[in-house]
Amino acid sequence: MKDQLDKIREDALKQIEASDALEKLNEIRVAYLGKKGELTSVLKSMKDVPPEERPKVGQMVNDARAIIENRLEEAKASLAKKAREEQMKREVIDVTLPAKRNNVGHSHPNTIALEEVERIFVGMGYEVVEGPEVEYDLYNFEKLNIPKNHPARDEQDTFYINDSIVLRSQTSPVQVRTMEQGKLPIRMIAPGRVFRSDEVDATHSPSFHQIEGLVIDKNITFADLKGTLAEFAKELFGPETKVKFRPHHFPFTEPSAEVDVTCFKCGGSGCRFCKGSGWIEILGCGMVHPNVLRMSGIDPDEYSGFAFGVGLERIALLKYEIDDMRLLYENDIRFLRQF
Ligand SMILES: [Zn+2]
Repeated sequence: MKDQLDKIREDALKQIEASDALEKLNEIRVAYLGKKGELTSVLKSMKDVPPEERPKVGQMVNDARAIIENRLEEAKASLAKKAREEQMKREVIDVTLPAKRNNVGHSHPNTIALEEVERIFVGMGYEVVEGPEVEYDLYNFEKLNIPKNHPARDEQDTFYINDSIVLRSQTSPVQVRTMEQGKLPIRMIAPGRVFRSDEVDATHSPSFHQIEGLVIDKNITFADLKGTLAEFAKELFGPETKVKFRPHHFPFTEPSAEVDVTCFKCGGSGCRFCKGSGWIEILGCGMVHPNVLRMSGIDPDEYSGFAFGVGLERIALLKYEIDDMRLLYENDIRFLRQF
């Protein structure tokens, strides 16, 4: 009986040793410990054992069962561990792989430049006013002292909806509309899209943006204009920046001037960026023409004011040292990402 049990035990352990799958372990459990298993059949044959021997044999059967069960549990645990390790290997995360990037956009260089200019003027107490892009000829030209057949119309040739409605060639009509409301004094900037019938090249586009400013109050002089624009230039291009006013002509201002700033690259000594002159032209300005004030219902004997206009793209090109205006409109991500 003992030999039989030893053989059953050894066979079972050998088979367990050789198993490489949980199903096989289950088969072994059924074959040895199940209702019709080998150990069970030994128990069934107990009736042939003399009664005094039975406890001893029973003990041996139980020991054999315990050993086989133990070994089965061990083998099961080791197989499960192996399976887990292999699964981990299969599903391993390679931390060196590039991560999926979340693409977050940002403001266009035009918008960044506009916000910068708005910040400067709002800081000086100006309000930001917007107006229609499709405008009456009356507001775009006539009330700005540019009557029909005036040569200035050639420089600002635009797109015509009909004889009396145009795509605005400047944001000045917003100034006229503000002056007509009759609330004085005025301190405003008018940013927005404007149109000209220009061919596209590195510095021209049929659609671009202007920021115009207007101040109307009693006793406003050219000194106020100079001080304001000098402050603006310093804020925009750095505290060392100087301004230079060159006499110019605009129909809506008198006197008029173009304003240069010292080159922010070389500080005025001359470089490739400023074409050796040390100066960079940035805007046009002047004292509001009495005719313009009068046409908007403001008495030029009581009130005076100044106006200026700057191209938004010009600021963006200068600020970011971009040499071609077309880049601002092509929506090339490789270009726009740089700002
Ligand atoms: Zn320079």
